[in-house]
Amino acid sequence: MVWLFDYDLTLYGTEERYVINSLDHRISKFVQKTVGGDFESAHKIRTDYLERFGTTLAGLMAMNGTDPDEFFDFIHEPEYLTYPKKAPEKLALLKSLDGPRFVFTNGRHDWSEAGMAHMGIESAIDGVFDLKQLDWVGKPHDSAYEKMEAWLHEKLPSMGVAYPANPREIVLLEDSLRNLEPAHRRGWTTVFVNPAEESPDWVDLHIPHLLKLGPNRLKIGT
Ligand SMILES: [Mg+2]
Repeated sequence: MVWLFDYDLTLYGTEERYVINSLDHRISKFVQKTVGGDFESAHKIRTDYLERFGTTLAGLMAMNGTDPDEFFDFIHEPEYLTYPKKAPEKLALLKSLDGPRFVFTNGRHDWSEAGMAHMGIESAIDGVFDLKQLDWVGKPHDSAYEKMEAWLHEKLPSMGVAYPANPREIVLLEDSLRNLEPAHRRGWTTVFVNPAEESPDWVDLHIPHLLKLGPNRLKIGT
């Protein structure tokens, strides 16, 4: 099996939502810095960008010519951010999963890397495939999953692992159904990590929290 983990609200759960909230606040601050005006009107522009472009960054790039690295440099300044807590039980769980493990994130790699260092799980993760490597066009665009597969075609052999003959052996864990759907269409195995929402029939496994994942609970059909 090849394990792919979304980072935000998947590798850390909704009980640590303040982590993503701290980042969200910085994103609104960046919008304010870019468009001017007060925080409240910046927040409104952000909501509008989210609706029209899918992400705030996509809106900023299209409407304000924002450089994505400049955006991430600003929002990732550690002094304004909160990170997930140390999680030795997650480290044990991740290490118990057979096969390579990667992060597949719509953020830039330094955000998930810093978070994983705080959780103490970085030794269980073999690499991060981030939004920059996706040319800033993330999940759920099909191109993101295509690029992930292309990356695995290079990465796995370099680790002495063969690319899976059956796409079912690629497992994606995600808190967002919207981001799981394209993975399902490609034949990957999908794990929905979400304590609040219902899951449709095509989801292979639905767990409320990462720590509920047991390798035995995942039955890979053909
Ligand atoms: Mg997420």
